[in-house]
Formats: sequence, C-alpha cells, structure tokens
Amino acid sequence: MAKKIIVAGGGHGGIACAALLSQAGFDVTVYEKNSRNNMGYDWTDIFDPKALRAARIPMPSKDKYEYKTNMTFIPPSARTPVTQDVPPSEAEIKMERSDIYDLIINHAEKHGVKFVFDCPVKKALMAGDRVIGIDTEKGEFYADMVIDACGCESVVRASLPDICGIQKHTNEFEKFYVYRAFYNRATDEEPEFKYKVYMLPNGRMGIGWVASEGEYSDLLIGEFEPFTVEEAEQKAEFFRKDNPVLGDKVLRGGYMVEIPVRQPLAIMVADGYAAIGDSAFMTVPIIGSGLADAFKAAAMLAEVIINDTSETYCAEVLWDYQMKYFKALGAGMAPLALVKLLLTKITPEQLDYLFDNGILGADELTITADSTSLGSMLSFDPALLGKAKSLVKDKALTRMVISLGKNIAKASTVCASMPKHYSKFTVQNWARRYEKLFRVHHR
Ligand SMILES: Cc1cc2nc3c(=O)[nH]c(=O)nc-3n(C[C@H](O)[C@H](O)[C@H](O)COP(=O)(O)OP(=O)(O)OC[C@H]3O[C@@H](n4cnc5c(N)ncnc54)[C@H](O)[C@@H]3O)c2cc1C
Repeated sequence: MAKKIIVAGGGHGGIACAALLSQAGFDVTVYEKNSRNNMGYDWTDIFDPKALRAARIPMPSKDKYEYKTNMTFIPPSARTPVTQDVPPSEAEIKMERSDIYDLIINHAEKHGVKFVFDCPVKKALMAGDRVIGIDTEKGEFYADMVIDACGCESVVRASLPDICGIQKHTNEFEKFYVYRAFYNRATDEEPEFKYKVYMLPNGRMGIGWVASEGEYSDLLIGEFEPFTVEEAEQKAEFFRKDNPVLGDKVLRGGYMVEIPVRQPLAIMVADGYAAIGDSAFMTVPIIGSGLADAFKAAAMLAEVIINDTSETYCAEVLWDYQMKYFKALGAGMAPLALVKLLLTKITPEQLDYLFDNGILGADELTITADSTSLGSMLSFDPALLGKAKSLVKDKALTRMVISLGKNIAKASTVCASMPKHYSKFTVQNWARRYEKLFRVHHR
C-alpha cells in the first residue's frame, strides 16, 4: 500500500513537494484552512523562475508573468539613491499570487495530490515524540509523515513537544509586520525611479517601497514592531509626499501580514515531521523573499523521502534534508540575518554615510534571483571592509561593521560544524550554538 503523507497548510514548498511525492507513488493530501478561491494574497510577487524548474513545475504561460524592473534604494536622507543593475540572465519574474497558486495546485492535482480546503489544522498528533498525524477542525487524520507548510507562525510547529527541540515561535526582530496595498495612480507622469525601496523610512526601523505600475501604485511598509491599518494609512502620507503617483484609494490589498526575516530554523525535522517554506523560515532575511527557496527545498525534501528505503521517515533520515538545505542555501542565508540585525542598530545618519560614501553601491544592492549568500547579495564581507577607508571617519560605525564581520565569520564556522548525523543530543546542542549567534543584546 502507498505510504501516506500529510501536508499541513497549503504553503508553496509543501504543495510542490506533494506533487513530487505523488508522482513517486505516495498517497498525499494537503489540508488547508482557506477555501480554494481564497488562496494567497491579493497582489503580485517576484521570484526566481529557475526555482520552478528545480521542483519540476512547468513555467506559466507568457501572459502570466513579466520581468521585474531594477529597484532603486533610497537612503534616509534621500540624497544618494542607488539603482540596482541586475543582469538579464538573473532577472526575476513578477506574477499574481493567485496565478502562482493556480499553477502549483493544478500541477499537483494533475499528479494525484488531494486537497482538503476550509480545513484549519489545530495541532500535531503525537505518539511519544513521533508526529503521526494532525488534528483539524474536520477531525483527526493520520499518516506516515507530516510536512509542515503552515507558514511563519505554524500551529503544527508550535504544538510539537519540547523534546523535539524545535523553536515554536519567532523572537524579537525575526519578522516584519507588513502593510501592502495597491493604490490608484494620482498622476500619469512617470516617476524617475519606477521601483523605490526606502531604507529606515521616516526614522522608522524597517523598510518601505513604492512601485509605479501601469494602472496602480504599489505601497509596502514593513517594520519590526506591529502596527494597525489605520497607522499604516498615516505612514502612507510620508511616501505620498515623495511620490505624487501614489493615490489615496485602495484598489487591492490594504491589510496587514507577517514575513519572517530571520535565519533558517535550527532544527527542521523530527520523527515523522519536516518543516518547509516559511514554517522553516526559508525567506531571505532583510528582503523576505521565500518562494524560490521553498520550491528548491521541495525538491530536496522529496528526494530524501523517496530515497528512505527504511520507510520510517524518522529524524535520522530526514536530517539529510536539512543538511542539503543548509549546504545549498541556508548557510548562505544565516549571515544575512546578521546584516538584518544591523538595521536594528544603525542610525539613519550612519546609513546615509554608507550611501553617501559609496560603501553601499549598486554592486552591494543588486539583489538578484540567485541571491543566496552574502557574496552574491550584500558585500558586507571583506569587499565591504575593503572600502573601509571612508568608514574609518565614523568610529562607532566602523566598530559595528568590524563586529558584524567577526560575527559573520563565527556564523560560517557554526554552520559548517552542523552535525552530519542526527542524534537529539548533538543536534540540539548545535542548535543552541547556532541560535546564540542571532540573539539581540539590548544596551
Ligand atoms: C507582503 C508580502 C510580500 C511578499 N513578497 C514576496 C515576493 O515578492 N517574493 C517572494 O519570493 N516572497 C514574497 N513573500 C514571502 C512569501 O509569501 C513566502 O515566503 C512564501 O509564500 C513561502 O511561504 P509558505 O508558502 O511556506 O507559507 P505561506 O505563504 O504563509 O502559506 C502557508 C499556508 O498555510 C495555510 N495555513 C496556515 N495556518 C494554517 C492552519 N492552521 N491550518 C491550515 N492551513 C494553514 C495558509 O492559509 C497558507 O495557505 C512575501 C510575503 C508577504 C507577506
């Protein structure tokens, strides 16, 4: 009889993995809290199309996507904007989120995956420290293994017993509270920069963007502290002053969401359990893109499950998935979480200094589809320290950057020392050392 796999939550990586497993003969069901027509958000997303290929999902038809325009980064003073220069071969695509879901759900259904919509999952069902199923509002369901694709604040992850050693909730500065809305265009005039990303806008700890599109103007505000939709409307005024194109009528979106912007989850597996996508914090810290890595992780997880000849799907076997993920992507992401923490410490004046002196230039800010490590994304590594002549004048900033350099080196060492084989004791010990790297020390 085919082995049964439950995917809890219709996250993107979970659905992509479900399709691969079903193709390989597993009996796979996805349990999702939303209705089919209500999947995803009411806006567009940008991601690396090569990730679809990795998960053997076909490209969408050409009318469903376009290539993304370069972003222009605006420092707090707005004095020295920097525009990215992404090579065409690395360009990401922009798609409606609902079209992404149509693509992956249709693909999964074609390969035999079953979906149960309108089915909120309540918690994991356990036998000792093994996950054996899920408790949902439609009853209990059992399987040989549960893939957790419930997103950033997964109830499945949060319900695992402490003995699994898996972090239940995000800590301070580990997620962005985000408001996003498409507004009407208030002018027909095309702005000089079509896609502006504001760093520490209006003195706030976070980012914002205004993208001018054909029919509308796209506003995103992300901060480390929660805020309300009413407060977001007030914050929008700051962006309107600088962007006459941004109207005041919400056409789409206009609500709050959360994005993890942290290092990947330290332990992603337990007996009968693996987390994927946002539930394993697979987004790129700082920018919060998570679709591409979720699709790539789907291929890695499916391969490990399919190759498990013992058919036990225990942590010892599934650990190989975590190893593969860290080797290919996670170890490059973890240092970026340290760079993100700089955003919580740096003053607007210091950030201006980095822009004004060319320390943060187009090379550093060219965040491309292949941005999986510091080297390819933000050269806050030796290359940045090479530009340190201009840094020396600001002693506090120099200290901050040198300490960042040291912490990045430590993070690389800790990631490289991840245990090759799973045992609760060694893995949980390693996880403590890894998490300690990102602990925020209040002054
Ligand atoms: C405003 C915004 C903009 C973004 N822009 C981009 C972008 O441009 N590019 C990019 O790559 N990424 C972007 N992201 C991040 C991206 O959305 C995620 O990283 C990506 O979706 C992977 O997460 P996921 O699919 O694992 O989880 P999610 O997208 O959170 O999906 C989780 C699924 O599980 C379901 N679920 C949750 N709890 C339960 C439960 N208890 N029972 C049953 N089902 C449940 C949810 O309804 C949802 O369908 C953006 C995120 C936000 C919020």
